[in-house]
Amino acid sequence: MKITSANFVISNSEVSKCPTNKLPEYAFIGRSNVGKSSLINMLTNRKNLAKTSGRPGKTQLINHFIINNNWYLVDLPGYGYARVSKSAKKVFQKFITEYFEQRAQLVSAFVLIDIRHEPQKVDMEFMQWMGEHQIPFSIVFTKADKLKPKAIERNVADYKAKMLEDTWEEMPNYFITSSSSGIGKDELLSYIGEINME
Ligand code: GDP
Repeated sequence: MKITSANFVISNSEVSKCPTNKLPEYAFIGRSNVGKSSLINMLTNRKNLAKTSGRPGKTQLINHFIINNNWYLVDLPGYGYARVSKSAKKVFQKFITEYFEQRAQLVSAFVLIDIRHEPQKVDMEFMQWMGEHQIPFSIVFTKADKLKPKAIERNVADYKAKMLEDTWEEMPNYFITSSSSGIGKDELLSYIGEINME
């Protein structure tokens, strides 16, 4: 799939105020600073469509972007940021979980994970929650330009081992990406294009 247009539609802190038409949507989520804004900008060929955050934890809204006038890309707030107050964190979690529980238009989510790090508890817990609620998602490993191919392989294998050791029967579908080099862009867009056609 080629992205020919990408436009901001609306920011919300309430799921009930999100667009009400039935266009399919794909949601991007991950810990603050994982590279979500950079990935969205890379996918849409735009420099500043999603605001890259010098200040982690800043984006606390559900942001809808319309792509090619036929699907929504949804930029969700980062989770698990330690420096926000407990109550602010709770608010993120509430509307994040409400979004996933209520949004019938959601086709699939993409859970972003920094390829450089060992499996992190907050990511594992989030994916566990997604699994328990039967929300379809793929993992998107980010910042692949920072590691050599062998290290990427090793870190993905670690994730897989950890997930199987938890309650997963298999590793979810995953992508290896870099917003700096463009690795994984075509694969991710083809995947969205294919499920959009189903
Ligand atoms: P967000 O908070 O998840 O939206 O993360 P940002 O997109 O703002 O990125 C956080 C930091 O990681 C910024 O300093 C980016 O320049 C950097 N970053 C994001 N993606 C990549 C990538 O693919 N490669 C490298 N090397 N750095 C990246």
